[in-house]
Amino acid sequence: MPCEGCPKRLDGRCNGLGGCKEREVDPLRVHLVQACRLLYERGLIAGFDGNASARTKHGTVLVTPAGVHKGLMNPDDVVELDLQGRSLDGRAPTTEVSMHLGVLQRRPDVTAVVHSHAPTAVAMSLLRNVSLNGVLPELAIALGEVKTVPYARPGTETLAEKVAQALAQSNAVVIERHGTVAVGATISEALARTEMIEHAARVLWTAHALQRPQRLDEAELRALMRRT
Ligand SMILES: [Zn+2]
Repeated sequence: MPCEGCPKRLDGRCNGLGGCKEREVDPLRVHLVQACRLLYERGLIAGFDGNASARTKHGTVLVTPAGVHKGLMNPDDVVELDLQGRSLDGRAPTTEVSMHLGVLQRRPDVTAVVHSHAPTAVAMSLLRNVSLNGVLPELAIALGEVKTVPYARPGTETLAEKVAQALAQSNAVVIERHGTVAVGATISEALARTEMIEHAARVLWTAHALQRPQRLDEAELRALMRRT
């Protein structure tokens, strides 16, 4: 979908990301839009689901808006807030904004937060006897133990608090019945961690369909996790 008012939209040269507009577009907005499009195209969210945020160098927060399809978003749709959640442009952020703000307030080292509804990770969170952890070395090295945050109603302060608490000690969590939240020093890093969880969930799902996967040797697992 071409950008509104873009001089290149009439002949099809507008890329829909705002990058071809005459005026300068904040690269962080463009990057957030690209990350959301990837989440959508890779099946990690559906339609209006999911959200992402990024801290700006001015200390404000760019966050995805409420009620916008993440595969069709453009940089002008991104909402800017202060760290307490007050909208700086009068528009409404995602209904799950408190989850982002809770993490960004507690983790000054974090620049980006990505929340997906990664389907295989969600499916695994419905099963008590299946775990993402202890089997795949790359996941242990990259993310340590990926904890599952117990169910709380989406969009509530209760869920935001539980997620912020869990992410005080780690860089990615699964939310039971709901999705994933991953953080990073960049949007790419938060996105990569999201993809890593869903990839591991798919591998384990396939293994479980055949047999019960064997855990890594405990000493080896501890050694891998010391590297995180
Ligand atoms: Zn959600």
